[in-house]
Amino acid sequence: MKLICIDCGQGMSSNNLNHHCTCGGLLDIVQDFHNYDADFLKHLFNERLSERMTPYASGVWRYKELIFPELPEDCIITKYEGNTGLYSSELIRKYTGLSQVSLKAQSENPSGSFKDNGMTVAVSHGKSLGFKNFTCTSTGNTSSSLAMYASIAHANSYVFVPNKDISINKVLQTIAYGAHVFSISGTYDDGIQFLEENASDLGLYVCNSINPFRIEGQKSIIYEIAHYLNWNLPEWIVVPGGALSNATALGKGLQDLFSLGFIDKVPRVAIVQAEGASPFHKMIAQNKSELIPEPRPYTRASALNIGNPPSWKKAMLSLRQTNGTTISVTDDEILDAKAIIDKSGIGCEPASAATVAGLRKLVSQQVIDKEESALCILTGNILKDTDALNEYHFGESNHSTFKNEWQPTSLTYDTIKKYIV
Ligand SMILES: *Cc1c(COP(=O)(O)O)cnc(C)c1O
Ligand SMILES: [Zn+2]
Repeated sequence: MKLICIDCGQGMSSNNLNHHCTCGGLLDIVQDFHNYDADFLKHLFNERLSERMTPYASGVWRYKELIFPELPEDCIITKYEGNTGLYSSELIRKYTGLSQVSLKAQSENPSGSFKDNGMTVAVSHGKSLGFKNFTCTSTGNTSSSLAMYASIAHANSYVFVPNKDISINKVLQTIAYGAHVFSISGTYDDGIQFLEENASDLGLYVCNSINPFRIEGQKSIIYEIAHYLNWNLPEWIVVPGGALSNATALGKGLQDLFSLGFIDKVPRVAIVQAEGASPFHKMIAQNKSELIPEPRPYTRASALNIGNPPSWKKAMLSLRQTNGTTISVTDDEILDAKAIIDKSGIGCEPASAATVAGLRKLVSQQVIDKEESALCILTGNILKDTDALNEYHFGESNHSTFKNEWQPTSLTYDTIKKYIV
């Protein structure tokens, strides 16, 4: 593999630890698939589906040849991430208006979010280079994932978390895994900037999504979906967009599958942002060529609360290569969609539900036809934000369309019988 600058095309060795080129552009990993035999790989990936106790049982490392072929096997730090479920439900078909819709639950990852798909690769890479100290800035999921893998790798994690508009569940999870947590008065974007300026002098290996190894790992999400569906993908893949790493990896993974001949058509990608933090959607909708950062983003979907997504140029490539689209949804739309996903028995945190809310809107605007098929990527677990559940079901708001309240009742046969349908 090689690192190539996405702006000027300059190449660098894959041991380079800067995530930016001398020109300021972001670096991207370019793999050499020239000698690969697609049939051989498909066979290998199928065989690995029956593995249990090796790194290849992981839904990321199963596809190692497409992710990090050079990494020695004994450097892999894994928690059998990936291997997540694909679901559908009558409620979701009704809600979106599509008869062919499914949800890929990356929320079933070991730390409860899709960040594990990329983090296993970043931490393995850092560890293989001899790093003992890892860092990230996070609204809570990246930090939980990093803290978990760092502890498994007997390494340290130093994480920066904004002191407001985040979910306490995620911070507690991060602390419990043993991270050194810095609660900062700035935003996520401030934390990213601090690390860009200081991480190298502090000797810290940075695990934010500008780390191209994370992107390589996150490509496994679409590999696994395609693999489980016998290399037949739906027409649309819908992802939420915050820092835009998921959207980037999705486009890249699709490109890999297409260039290897695993799929003969690239699905279209829809990126859904929360209205209060939607600089990427605004740029696309207004046909602009530069992203204008939002200094004070706010959305209840804390994982999407990012005003200056560092990887927007990479996400733009995904969008172009897949003939994709973007849309934004309100917090009320997100929370109602979440209630439908939860009630289906699948469950997710608010940010993930932006996908279903966005899909519903794209169908109602006829951007997506009712005859088309779509898959939404659910990014985080239902227990990642219990305050959101409390506010929606027990709160005062009259925006909770699908509220499910409990019944304080006396415990007699007759009172209970009334409720049973
Ligand atoms: C990180 C995260 C997102 C946003 O993904 P990006 O790659 O930053 O766009 C969405 N949902 C959840 C649950 C996340 O943890
Ligand atoms: Zn450059």
